[in-house]
Amino acid sequence: MSRRTFVRASALGLAVAATAEPLPAAAGVKQPMGIPYVGAGSNTAVRPFALREVRLNAGLLQEKRDRMKAFLEAYDERRFLMLFNDQAGRPNPPGLQLPGGWENGGLLSGHWAGHYLSALAQAYADQGQQVFKDKLDWMVGELAACQAAITARMDAPGGGDEPEEPVIGRVEGRFGKGLRLNGGSGAEHLRLPQEAVSQLTDFTIAAWVNLAAAQSWSRVFDFGQNTTVNMFLTARSGASGNPPRFAITVGGSGQEQQITGTSALPAGQWSHLAVTLSGSVGTLYVNGAAVAANIGMTLNPTSLGVPGNLWIGRSQYGDPLLDATIDEFHIFDRALSAEEIQSLTDSAAGSTGGGNIAWYRFDEEGGATALDSSPNGRDAGIVPVTQGGGALWAPTHPGYLGAIPEDAVIRLGPPRFAVYGSNLDTNVWAPWYTQHKIMRGLLDAFYLTGNEKAREVVVKMAEWAHLALTVGDKNHPQYQGPITRSDLNLMWDTYIAGEYGGANEVFPEIHALTGEVRHLDTARLFDNRESLFGACVENRDILVVTNPADLGRRRPARLHVNQHVPNFVGYLRIFEQGGGQDYFQAAENFYGMVVPHRMFSHGGTGGNYPGSNNNIEMFQNRDNIANAIAQGGAETCSIYNVAKLARNLFFHTQDPAYLDYYERAVLNQIAGSRADTATTSNPQVTYFQPLTPGANRSYGNTGTCCGGTGLENHTKYQEAVYFKSADGSALWVNLFVPSAVTWADKGFVVTQETSFPREARTKLTVDGSGRLDIKLRVPEWARNGYTVRINGTRTPMRAAQPGTYVTLRRVWRPGDVIDVSMPFSIRIERAIDRPDTQSVMWGPLLMPIVGDPGGGYRELSLYRHLKRDGDYSRAAITPAGTSAAGDPIFTTHGFTLRPWYVGDTQAHSAYFRRVEPQIVFGSIDSGVPNVKRDDGLPRYDVPVSGIPSPGTDGLTFLDVVWDHAPFATHGTFVATVARTAGEFVAAGRLTDEQRDAVVAAAAGARRELTPEP
Ligand SMILES: [Zn+2]
Repeated sequence: MSRRTFVRASALGLAVAATAEPLPAAAGVKQPMGIPYVGAGSNTAVRPFALREVRLNAGLLQEKRDRMKAFLEAYDERRFLMLFNDQAGRPNPPGLQLPGGWENGGLLSGHWAGHYLSALAQAYADQGQQVFKDKLDWMVGELAACQAAITARMDAPGGGDEPEEPVIGRVEGRFGKGLRLNGGSGAEHLRLPQEAVSQLTDFTIAAWVNLAAAQSWSRVFDFGQNTTVNMFLTARSGASGNPPRFAITVGGSGQEQQITGTSALPAGQWSHLAVTLSGSVGTLYVNGAAVAANIGMTLNPTSLGVPGNLWIGRSQYGDPLLDATIDEFHIFDRALSAEEIQSLTDSAAGSTGGGNIAWYRFDEEGGATALDSSPNGRDAGIVPVTQGGGALWAPTHPGYLGAIPEDAVIRLGPPRFAVYGSNLDTNVWAPWYTQHKIMRGLLDAFYLTGNEKAREVVVKMAEWAHLALTVGDKNHPQYQGPITRSDLNLMWDTYIAGEYGGANEVFPEIHALTGEVRHLDTARLFDNRESLFGACVENRDILVVTNPADLGRRRPARLHVNQHVPNFVGYLRIFEQGGGQDYFQAAENFYGMVVPHRMFSHGGTGGNYPGSNNNIEMFQNRDNIANAIAQGGAETCSIYNVAKLARNLFFHTQDPAYLDYYERAVLNQIAGSRADTATTSNPQVTYFQPLTPGANRSYGNTGTCCGGTGLENHTKYQEAVYFKSADGSALWVNLFVPSAVTWADKGFVVTQETSFPREARTKLTVDGSGRLDIKLRVPEWARNGYTVRINGTRTPMRAAQPGTYVTLRRVWRPGDVIDVSMPFSIRIERAIDRPDTQSVMWGPLLMPIVGDPGGGYRELSLYRHLKRDGDYSRAAITPAGTSAAGDPIFTTHGFTLRPWYVGDTQAHSAYFRRVEPQIVFGSIDSGVPNVKRDDGLPRYDVPVSGIPSPGTDGLTFLDVVWDHAPFATHGTFVATVARTAGEFVAAGRLTDEQRDAVVAAAAGARRELTPEP
């Protein structure tokens, strides 16, 4: 049944039971007998049901889930083993391709395989389909063999040797030194870090190049995923005359948007090449002069998604490697002017100050790192000329398993303290994050499907991790002894390198499984009391600071969102396994810094703001919403982790606010992160979900972080629909989702039919006998009434307060029916720092305005449409039926609004600007300006360029009045107007005369404001 047909059926009074079919969830799944569960909420007062105990029925979430399950099923799992086999020295079948993205042999490889394991385990737990179990069992068996093969090399000759640092020199450049590629210097090509390109729209890329040979098609740079999605600059395109060419495409060479020069660059001398993009205008410059333009460009670097291959000197196609010397490679986030490009031919930076995104000067003495001379630290890795197959490395400690060499994990610690970068031999990229994903996947395979081998492999990995983080890099010539607490703090404070995700989540679980205390000790090794952990225990918000050096030896001014959110899930797990109250306190306090202080209306967090550095994966400063709606932000795997943290905190506190957030996250950003397409060629999930007016979403994400959590998000929608009390006394109904829960121990099956999320009429059918408290969530947004009927009789209860649970305490009989009604309403949510920046919500759903306003915000005036009941849906923002897919549609001022969860690429605006210049009541204009109160907004903890803080912004007069709606009588309304006007007079915002005019206008608006019956 499609979402549409279900909604129509339910509109007929729920006469069609979507759950009349039997429940294969109870019948079909081979339950892993005797498998202990020691994950989130395993020993709390309120606990989760296993995924296999909850079945989703036809509806929005089932639709999104099934699309992801189709991807999981179609994917050739053997591709995930290729890089593990390479490390283990095991052969791969011919003809297979690497997964790609960041699962491509780079330093983050292995993370995506771990997510795939978790997703397979969840998909199997869902409905017991054997195909997922078969894939999972095969992968676990192969990973076990890889782990054994690596450990068997412990005693091989040369065991524990570090790879030798390649010798790479520099040569004379155009200004200072340069880098010779493929000409005896030892350098083959360069790899740039992700953020050097992936967040650019307008840009300039400029470089000097001195060709040593007249090759065609060799690349000055080539940034992309593969031959389908890329952008490149070649000094000599094979086209007629061999002119230079820039091209960008998301559809292969046949769909390139090109800018082609006029004549070939000569070999044996320096030439300056630059390409700029300003909106739809791309320009190619040679030696400071514009030689060609393309005024119809529709693609820019963000169109490339998250490219895995950011290369200087290498092509996505097998073109010859660049045989040339390069120098002064600049990347800017804007199109330089012709004068500025010209200036780059006179000196290294000309009049520009150097590339503000990255600037590689190649003036270092030598070595495999090209230093970034911009302030951003985006050093590039120089990949050495391949020497021909070396011997396999030998491990330092037994039990290692990974798709990268053990050294690429261990060198994060002393004595090398490697930093993030793209040099495969010297840098690291979140190595413990990747270890976590693999371990998490194995634990899920064990819990959810009963795979015992997965348990054996993950326990060995935990033994290895304990040695790696205590004994450390013992075979290194500069080894100074075991790793100290201070060393660990330094490691975890390092941007991206020290990103360990939720690694501290798996070790407490392994401690619970094995009883070995050292695994809990391993989890504590990830604490960083010197920095964020310590601050969160004390509830000090240091997510963004002005003087990072005061707080840590390596921390950046803004912390990376997804580097840190999952840490706190781990702290909760340590707390649950007896770690102490600090761990709970830190998690609770940290969550409070994110929600609501950094939460956008779709539930996401993180982004740029004026004066911050160019990295939208970082936290914004506290209380910054309106000025953080940058060109992107709100990374999807960050919200995966914030939702995970909220759910886990609820187990401990039963605070309904955590489920309010969870619902917002799941029904908006997470549901919206999956495209509504049937394609199985990639996961079709989002990375960022920008809130900028007129932004759209792009889907894909093979091999990225969000492509990994994306596999999991859509295969575990059951995880919070129902909970149970540990003492067996209560069933918690948290989310309104077509579904059924089987509580075998209590002998209850409860089936939920609901028209949610179109509106909220829900019918619960109880199959079971005996005493049970059924706790129904009253969402924070349910402000239009909440009624409950049991077997048709209205249950007497005090007015259900939004943001609580109501408890139905009763001896139930089979066939008892609970009807819940909680009408949706249109609500306006204001940005906390700028109240006129607003989102429209329909019940729990964010309703963006469809279309691109073309720069700036849509401006809406709504108060003149309101009646005394304050109901926006009467005239201001009105229902317009449903879409073809059954989704609610509204219109206002000729614009269409629809749910954020709709998964397509339409431009839309999550926020609009409220413009209410005059105090009006219906069509009656008081003649008085709708002045603002001085609420001291915005109030940021860290300054935003160009924005005074604290400021003088605040609610308008009409905001304050209408916040009291609904008004029972016209008299109450007028009294509220009079009282508010008095307050504004006292604050010096209105004169006595203005007050009188406003009150008189309100008094005369009885008919205007009376709701239609
Ligand atoms: Zn991500």
